[in-house]
This record gives sequence, structure tokens and C-alpha cells, in this order.
Amino acid sequence: MKFDIHSVVRPHILNLAPYSSARDEYTGKEGVFLDANENPIGSATPENWNRYPDPYQFAIKEKLAPIKGCRPTQIFLGNGSDEPIDLIIRLTCEPKVDNIIILPPTYGMYEVSASVNNVAIQKIPLKSDYQLNIDAILEAINSKTKLIFICSPNNPTGNLINREAILQIIENFQQGIVIIDEAYNDFSDEPSFIPSLDEYPNVMVLQTFSKAWGLASLRLGMAFAQEELITLLNKIKYPYNINGLTQKLLIENIDNTDFVKKSVATLNENRAQLEKELSELPNVEHIYPSDANFLLVRFKEAKAVFDYLIENKTIVRDRSKVILCDNCLRISVGTKDENSILMGYLRSYEA
Ligand SMILES: *Cc1c(COP(=O)(O)O)cnc(C)c1O
Repeated sequence: MKFDIHSVVRPHILNLAPYSSARDEYTGKEGVFLDANENPIGSATPENWNRYPDPYQFAIKEKLAPIKGCRPTQIFLGNGSDEPIDLIIRLTCEPKVDNIIILPPTYGMYEVSASVNNVAIQKIPLKSDYQLNIDAILEAINSKTKLIFICSPNNPTGNLINREAILQIIENFQQGIVIIDEAYNDFSDEPSFIPSLDEYPNVMVLQTFSKAWGLASLRLGMAFAQEELITLLNKIKYPYNINGLTQKLLIENIDNTDFVKKSVATLNENRAQLEKELSELPNVEHIYPSDANFLLVRFKEAKAVFDYLIENKTIVRDRSKVILCDNCLRISVGTKDENSILMGYLRSYEA
């Protein structure tokens, strides 16, 4: 592969000296720490949080690497996946000059982040089967295209994107970075692209603790890529982007992959049950196959169903105005109880 990270990164960032935090200069744990203007007495809380946390979250990455099948140096942790999405745009895209390619219908943050950064967006819709329109994507690439975002399993459609198609994009786009958002990978049987990172230096994989791990409130997202790219992301992030409480909680509980496995199994079972019950409703026209913890469902009259559910304090996501999602609602898979409450209202709507 002829990919060269230096030609993708904005030149001024390559030359920039990052903020050097007090703890960059001495990484030992023992000592008299009078370098960071912390409060040496303690904290206003029962537990002490008076010391700045590890800026690079080494302890988490040490434990996470074997779980994900990569090296600790290939991991970036962010304030949700939102942070690496924003950082990769800021790292590579010159505002008003460069552009990114997104493949709607897809996750909204790629467009939001690009727009905030005044970076142009090329939209190449998925085909009607929600797979990549490879020819159109390759044709859209111009000399200013820096990033292509692919979400698999895709949100809001729920399907996996064909691996061969993703590989075709990776192999034919070596002037920039292909971002593969695997937020829902835990719910599918599809292997992650993480173990292939050494083979594909132009790939960045996104995963998150918000879904299968059940930690949405902590705001912890992961990016995986070649070491040099991770180093560059570290260079431009806020120094202490993951707080100490989150780091402590994660170090103590990251071995609990049993919880992840069990909730995935339960939610996938609940999804199958919900799918079966929804398919029996006359108002439901189509349920798209899902490899994630949600279902995209086409109704005869989605907006009316959505409003009726809201009246009954049951909230789903209205995607009916989204391209290729006419009359569709996106329904997260709940507990058995939550799903039967939803089904109760949907049946009473029909009656
Ligand atoms: C939920 C989701 C994420 C995760 O976002 P966080 O900021 O990590 O909570 C990322 N990508 C997609 C496509 C998602 O649906």
C-alpha cells in the first residue's frame, strides 16, 4: 500500500508542538507532586479525585488491547466516539478546502462534525438494499477528499455492509482514511477490522462502550488505527480527555466481558421475539434484517404511530424523513417488559 499518513494530515499540525502536561515529564507514581497546582489536602467528595488523571489511559489500554486483538499503542480513547470523529476531521481536513464522503442513511455525527468544522460533505446514498454504491463512491473521490465514513452494522438501517465492498473502498482510496464505525459490531458475528490494521494503514476503526458494554453515560469511545495516526490524535486532543473516575471504573471492570456476552445474547434473543411480534401487525409493512440492537421498521403511517407512542410515553426514533427510510421508525431493542409495553400500544393503535 502506498498510503502516507503525512500527506493526509494538515501540514500545520505536523509542525505543531502539543501542550506538554506536567505529568508528561515524570511518569512515576511515587513522589512529591508540586507540579500541577492540584489540591494536596484532598477533595470535596468522600473519595479523593484531587490528582489529574493519566492523559494517555495506559492502564485501560493494556487491558483493552488483548480483548480487541491489537497493541495498546493502536488505541485512542475519547469522550464518546464523538471525539475521535471530530478529531479525525480536524486532523485531516482543511476547512473550505477538503471534503469527506458519507453514505446516507447513516449516523448523523459525521455530518454534524464536518459542518461544525466547515468541511464539505459529499453524500453518496446507499443502494436500495442498503449496501455500498461502490462505483459512485470511487467516482466521487477527488483530490480534496480526505475521509470516507462507513458504518457497519449501519445506523439506522441495522445491516452489515459487505466486507468485500469495504475492502474495495480501502484498496482504492489510499490518499485518505477509511473510517469503519463498528459501534454495533458486538451484536453481530462479523469479525472486526481491528486485527487487519497492520495490513491497512489507511483504516481507522471506531467502537464504543455505549452500546453492548452498557456504559453510555460514561462517554467512552474507542478508535483503533496504526500507531502514527494514534500519536497524531493524541497530539491534538484535550490533555485530560478521559476523567479519572471513568478510568478507575473501567480498569476495575474491563474484565467483565461476561456481562457484554450475556447482554448481547439476551438482546439478540429479544430482537428476534420483537421482530416476530411486529411482523404480525397489519400496520407494519417491512422489518429490515438487523445485526444491531435495534430494528428499522416500515409502517403504513409511521408519523401517526410515532405520535401515538409518544402520547403513551413510549419513545422510538422517527426516521421517516430520512433518505431511503420513508415511513420508517427505528426501535431500540428493550427488555422483555419494555418490548411487551411497546407491543401493547402498537396493538391498541391498530384496534
Ligand atoms: C451509538 C453510536 C456511536 C457511539 O457513540 P458514543 O459517542 O460513543 O456514545 C457511534 N457510532 C454509531 C453509528 C452509533 O450509532
